[in-house]
Amino acid sequence: MNITIKTKSELDLMRQAGKILADTLKLIEQNIYIGQTSAQLDKLAYDYITSLGAKPSFLGYEGFPYTICASVNDEVVHGFASDIPLKDGDIISIDCGVNWKGYHADAARTFAVGNVEPKVLKLIECTKQSFFEGIKDIRAGSKLGHISHKIQVHLESNGYGVVRELVGHGIGTHLHEDPMVPNYGPYNAGVLLRSGMTLAIEPMSTLGKRNVVLHHNGWTVLTEDGLPSAHYENTVIITDDGVEIITL
Ligand code: MG
Ligand code: MG
Repeated sequence: MNITIKTKSELDLMRQAGKILADTLKLIEQNIYIGQTSAQLDKLAYDYITSLGAKPSFLGYEGFPYTICASVNDEVVHGFASDIPLKDGDIISIDCGVNWKGYHADAARTFAVGNVEPKVLKLIECTKQSFFEGIKDIRAGSKLGHISHKIQVHLESNGYGVVRELVGHGIGTHLHEDPMVPNYGPYNAGVLLRSGMTLAIEPMSTLGKRNVVLHHNGWTVLTEDGLPSAHYENTVIITDDGVEIITL
């Protein structure tokens, strides 16, 4: 395993990437409505990121064809942008990455379209909360497993499934670096966190069973039972006294 500790100047570049990404996700949120298409959201994100001189991290990554991952309803992650209009009651998870001067930030949100069933809104809210539970009381010297375990407990105690096949990750000059950050596992497992580590922490939850299947496009991951899934992700910096979230 090769976990990189970033220097102060590297962290500053990551903060700048994080700010661009946070603004991109806000722009997308303002443009979520019934009848909107994820292809249009993808274009908005591409145009905004490139207008600032930054690069979309996902576009071309291992051949991924879009700036955003747009995952609707039972799509967990890596959904393809499409011309299918969003319908009343849909949910859509938008995952996006920004490369600023060689440094990446990665974040995801799940948005509601129109009137979404209360139990699905609760899934979205609880998934977001599980991220914040995961980083609560975390600092340099904590174990990685503290994060994983607290996310799992929060989601499962609320009756949701925790997807195992996909995990969070270190991030920096590469979009995906060591260590892997699972959303499940024992409290005392994993590496010791150190100041200057940068992690993308990303709970992925399901309303029904946690089992997932791969779409024939080779990318998109869906729930096996067809029930909705939510995703919430931020890039964070581990510090001596806590966690700094750089994509809010
Ligand atoms: Mg992501
Ligand atoms: Mg990620």
